[in-house]
Amino acid sequence: MPELIDVHCHIDDDAFGSDLDKVLENAKKVGVSCIVTSALDEKSIKKTEAIVEKYKGFVYCTVGLDYSLLDEEKVSWVMDYITKNKERIIGIGEVGLDFFIFRNDALQERNKAIFRKWIEFAKEMRMPIVVHSRSAGKYAINMLIEAGAEQVLMHAFDGSVGYAIEGAKRGFYFSIPPSIVRSEQKQKLVRHLPLENLMLESDSPVLGPEKGMRNTPSNVVISAGKIAEIKKVSYDEVCQITTKNARTLFFKNSY
Ligand SMILES: [Zn+2]
Repeated sequence: MPELIDVHCHIDDDAFGSDLDKVLENAKKVGVSCIVTSALDEKSIKKTEAIVEKYKGFVYCTVGLDYSLLDEEKVSWVMDYITKNKERIIGIGEVGLDFFIFRNDALQERNKAIFRKWIEFAKEMRMPIVVHSRSAGKYAINMLIEAGAEQVLMHAFDGSVGYAIEGAKRGFYFSIPPSIVRSEQKQKLVRHLPLENLMLESDSPVLGPEKGMRNTPSNVVISAGKIAEIKKVSYDEVCQITTKNARTLFFKNSY
């Protein structure tokens, strides 16, 4: 069975509780060898710490701050936490821009200022950065390029193909959620980006194949299947290359 990696999800979410064991077992059954869950605030970090400890060697985490919080104090707290716990964290994020939430200039500027801090922090820490960008793909890609960011994963990118290609040229990766089966934009993205720049994500509990249904990490097989169909390559090849990409970004030597 080919190996898959879910590079982005939120299994600390309240949507998972008593059945998390089963959810993770189901993922293993379909070939998922590793899950990267993303913590988004203080409470989420505490919960994620316990999950990573419990499922050591299977669940890893990135740590960031909910992009909807324009809160410098919280940003500093999370950065401090990451600095002190670097060995336990494999990346920064998710962090980023959300111009669907922030619709006026003043708020968008504050959102950008915080994102700029995160980009610099990730560079300083020499850690990968996992980027959220909603209705702001162009700005996120431009800011990352301007800052000279290198280890970048754009998750569930909703921007245009042109900007995605600019990012891919700089070595940015793009992770594709199971919602690709119902998203023309994601299908287009996959059509135009090289497989060498793609990874698989579930973004559980959201972005599942069916809108509104709880998504789980095992659904990365749906992303892989759809990518194989679009790229006209085998499912195995998609798993092999996306797994290799995930290892290159998050686990330079081994895991
Ligand atoms: Zn997410």
